[in-house]
Amino acid sequence: MRLNACELEIDLFCRGMRLASDVDLNGARSVSRTRAGLGSGLEIMLPTGARIKPYVWVNVPVVERFAAASPYNLAGDFQGGHRIIDERSGDSYAVKLPREPRWYSETTSRGVPMSRVGVLQGSLLGIYINPVCAFWNYAPALNCRFCTTGQNVGMNEAADKTIADVVETCRAARDESGVTFVHLNGGFQGSRGLEFAAPYVAAIKREVGILVGLQFAPERSFERYDAVIDAGVDHLSFCLELIDPDWFARICPGKARVHGQRLFIDAMAYCAKRLPRGAVSGEIIAGLEPVERTLEAIELIAGLGAFPTVCIFRPTVGADLEDWPPPSYQEMRRVMVRVYEACRRHWIPIGIAPNIEVSLVVNPDDAALLVEPSVARYTYEVWRQMLQLLVRPLFGYRLRSRTATS
Ligand code: SF4
Repeated sequence: MRLNACELEIDLFCRGMRLASDVDLNGARSVSRTRAGLGSGLEIMLPTGARIKPYVWVNVPVVERFAAASPYNLAGDFQGGHRIIDERSGDSYAVKLPREPRWYSETTSRGVPMSRVGVLQGSLLGIYINPVCAFWNYAPALNCRFCTTGQNVGMNEAADKTIADVVETCRAARDESGVTFVHLNGGFQGSRGLEFAAPYVAAIKREVGILVGLQFAPERSFERYDAVIDAGVDHLSFCLELIDPDWFARICPGKARVHGQRLFIDAMAYCAKRLPRGAVSGEIIAGLEPVERTLEAIELIAGLGAFPTVCIFRPTVGADLEDWPPPSYQEMRRVMVRVYEACRRHWIPIGIAPNIEVSLVVNPDDAALLVEPSVARYTYEVWRQMLQLLVRPLFGYRLRSRTATS
C-alpha cells in the first residue's frame, strides 16, 4: 500500500535507505556525524501535498548496517529530481534533497569551520556547545548506550566553541538558511550545564535574535532554570529516554546513577509551569523498551503540559548498541499516533513556532497525517491554526535581534 509522507518517514527511520550507484548527491547536505550521532543520515524532504505543512523532513539512515538491506532505494539527480523507489511494491516517491548551504564552507573569525560548530538538522540549527559529556570520562564509561558524542566532539566537530563561534554560525545560518531556531545541547557537565549555557543564550538573543532551545542534564537547583529563562531561552527539553526503570538503568547508566528518572520528570514539570505551554519537551527513545512503556511515557510527558519528542531508535555506527535491530514500522506508527493523540487531548500547541522542522524525529504535528478524520481531530487542527495566526506577532517580537549591528 502506498504510504503518506509521515508513514514513509517512519518506515525510512525503521528500515533506512540504500543509494543507487548513479544517484547524484553533489550539492546535497553531506552526511554529518555530530552531537549524539543521530543525525548521521541523509537529509531529505518528503512532500505532503498540504499547503500548511508542505514537507516532512527526515534524516534517513544510510550508513548503518540495517540500511544495506532496506527495500528503499534513492535514485535521480538535481535536474530531473530525486525519488525513492520501494522495491517491494515498485512505488516511487518524489522527494527533495536540501542543498548544502554556503556557510558550511565558511569559517568563524578565529578560523573554525562553521560546519564544525553547527549542523542543520531539518530546518533547525543544532550546536553541541560543551566539552564532551562527562559520562564518557568515567571508567568504565557511563555513556548512554545509543550515543556517540564521545567519538564526535573534538573529531567531527570542534572540541570547544566560543560564544563568538556560536553567534557567528547562528547569524550565517539565519541569513542564508532562514534558520529561526538553534538547539544547544551539552550532555552532562556536573553542575555547570546551564550556568555554562546562559551566556550563549544571552549572546544569541542579543546579537542574532533567533529562538534558542537548551537540552542538558536536569539540574537539582531549579533556580538555574529561572536564570536561563531570564536570559531569554525559548525552549527547554529533557531527555528522559526511557520510562521503565530497568531499561533506563541498562541503557542510560550515567543518568540512572547520577540523576534518576524522578529528577528529569520534576525538572520538566517545573519548567512546563514557568514557560508558555508548548515550550518544554520531554525526549524519549522508542524501540528499546516494550512499546506499552513508551506509550506510558508519552502520556506522562503530555500530562505535564510538555510535548513528547520521540526518537525512533537508530543503531548508530560506533554506538554500544550498533548491532541491535531497529524497531518495527507497525509499533512505531502506533507510537506516533499516540504522540499526536496525547498532544490533542492535553491541548498542547504543536507546530506553532515558525519554520521548526526537526529531521531526527517524527515531529508531533507530522503525525496528524496518521490520524483518521474526526470531530476531535478537526477541532484541534482548527485551534492550532488559529493559535498559529494569533502568536505570529509574539514570535516576530522574539525573533528580533537586540542590537543594531546584526
Ligand atoms: S547524556 Fe547520554 S545521550 Fe547525552 S551526551 Fe551524555 S552520553 Fe550522550
